[in-house]
Amino acid sequence: MHEYSLANNLIELLREQKKEKKAKKILKVELDFGKLSGAEPVLFEEAFEILKKETEFKETELKINLIEPEIKCLKCGKTFNTPYFPFLCPFCENFGGEIIKGDKIFIKSLVIENF
Ligand SMILES: [Zn+2]
Repeated sequence: MHEYSLANNLIELLREQKKEKKAKKILKVELDFGKLSGAEPVLFEEAFEILKKETEFKETELKINLIEPEIKCLKCGKTFNTPYFPFLCPFCENFGGEIIKGDKIFIKSLVIENF
């Protein structure tokens, strides 16, 4: 499943961060989770909860902030929010647009415990 490989990537990232920051523990990770990322947040969370049990991040708490998509119309230049492809601009009814926000998943913050 897509969400499992994403959750695995997150664990790898946490490992790197832990090493880099010389942390004893990562207590909490907060993600900005774009609604257009193509992944399902609930499934992602489930996958992380299962996978983390086998790792040093057993106790790491996951917080997901859902990020609303923002699309910029290529015709009139206004921005709008739609979760659906193809993007229909509500202002000029042109199809298509550039995704400005909401198509990525990234770490927003980490709470760590030092030695
Ligand atoms: Zn438009």
